[in-house]
Amino acid sequence: MKAAPFAYVRPSRLSDAIAELAETRGGGKVIAGGQSLTPVLAMRLARPDTLIDINSIEELGALTRSGPALHIGATVRQRRVERDPLGAGVPLLRLALPWVGHRELRSRGTVCGSLAHADPAAELPAVACCLDAELTLTGPNGHRRVSAREFFHGAMTTALTPDEILTSVRLPVATGGEGFGFAEIARRHGDFALAGVAVRVRLRAGRPEATMTAFGVSDRPVTRDLSEQLAAAVTDGGDGLAGRLKEQLAAVVEEIVDTDGDIHASRDYRRRLLLALAGRELSKAYERARDGAEEVTT
Ligand SMILES: Cc1cc2nc3c(=O)[nH]c(=O)nc-3n(C[C@H](O)[C@H](O)[C@H](O)COP(=O)(O)OP(=O)(O)OC[C@H]3O[C@@H](n4cnc5c(N)ncnc54)[C@H](O)[C@@H]3O)c2cc1C
Repeated sequence: MKAAPFAYVRPSRLSDAIAELAETRGGGKVIAGGQSLTPVLAMRLARPDTLIDINSIEELGALTRSGPALHIGATVRQRRVERDPLGAGVPLLRLALPWVGHRELRSRGTVCGSLAHADPAAELPAVACCLDAELTLTGPNGHRRVSAREFFHGAMTTALTPDEILTSVRLPVATGGEGFGFAEIARRHGDFALAGVAVRVRLRAGRPEATMTAFGVSDRPVTRDLSEQLAAAVTDGGDGLAGRLKEQLAAVVEEIVDTDGDIHASRDYRRRLLLALAGRELSKAYERARDGAEEVTT
């Protein structure tokens, strides 16, 4: 099948892109890397009147570090973040990126495009939620900032209004005393996850703080504070932290997985996957935080 006819514009200024989008009155779509949108158009699952290509807008191509944050503009490719030394400041992102499809796809696909697309089984929305990233949305009334945890409203549904562009995302750069874990189970490498976790552990005054975001198991990424469970599992001492964590996490995992079964996996199977991944990655993240460096002082 071929895409339905559409007009195509490629402005070089953000203000022009915003004006073009507003002019379509909800009938336009932004195109960034095109890795998700092009198949959607080809299958006629969407029939926008106009495509607004943002790739010539220079200011959207910035990848910069400012103070404690990594700033990723809307046209920055996933592969660039994977390879640029600046990307190493956000270890969780670097752990997750190799799981996003294949390298060729990441060479075109953008970090912000993945967030805007909001596939519930995608890796980068989970990373953004786990790290409590801040997204900048720009529309006719200017910029507004939205926390990643409030950005995802459901499957392929976000806080973006039809006249807004996601212009950048800011992620916190890791400090001493932090450890991360990331893993997923997919049927083949490059497929979307049946279940996955992104995990951050921070040691403060000897006490661990833990955040986990699960994906592929609900209509959006699901974030939970697991500090209590981690503290209890650590206090029990000895080897086998991952196993003790699984006991601590059973109830949370039961509650998080609310997707119905599909042809690939039942709900119960996804719960088992998530429990195994959560125990293992939380334990790894804790050990990385403990063996890493000084505690977080801020
Ligand atoms: C074979 C295949 C396998 C894949 N596997 C995975 C996978 O395992 N994990 C995964 O996460 N993804 C996967 N993807 C999707 C891929 O990661 C895409 O690159 C990503 O989802 C979208 O990024 P993009 O820049 O290509 O966005 P586009 O395709 O250009 O756009 C996607 C959607 O987001 C909107 N959009 C894009 N940028 C903006 C913006 N700045 N502001 C507002 N709206 C915007 C578009 O209008 C469109 O609705 C796969 C894709 C393919 C084709």
